[in-house]
Amino acid sequence: MSCIFCMIKDKIIPSSVVYENDYVLAFLDLSQANEGHTLVIPKKHFDTLFEVDDLYICEMMKAVKVVGNAIIKTFNCEGINVLNNSGTAAGQTVMHAHIHIIPRYENDGNNFVFNNNESKFDLVDIANQIKNNI
Ligand code: AMP
Ligand code: ZN
Repeated sequence: MSCIFCMIKDKIIPSSVVYENDYVLAFLDLSQANEGHTLVIPKKHFDTLFEVDDLYICEMMKAVKVVGNAIIKTFNCEGINVLNNSGTAAGQTVMHAHIHIIPRYENDGNNFVFNNNESKFDLVDIANQIKNNI
């Protein structure tokens, strides 16, 4: 078994668990972008969030809400980022689907900045292209 998060869910390697049930495990991210930075993973291997089945993805989001509320209560943070990186181009480094819960504060030094390409694109055309693939 080479997936580090499978080894964490199977308790083969240690982690700082904050919440778990039959479907999900939430544990502290080693990097701690801010104190309390937590990862929620499914207890079944899926490479990316977009491959997670409906049962597990619902359980992941329920856990995000439970743990996020506990983080707010614990740290009295001013905001929270809930984020997922899917694919290496998006910054995914561990290929076991996971959701980050990151407590945030004004001027805490974390920056998630996206390009603003509004003027370059026809939004109606883009929406139609996506709709055609749903
Ligand atoms: P991502 O870049 O979205 O794939 O995030 C992977 C995250 O996993 C990073 O923020 C790492 O700090 C974290 N990470 C990697 N190995 C471990 C580990 N053994 N325990 C806790 N967090 C880890
Ligand atoms: Zn895995």
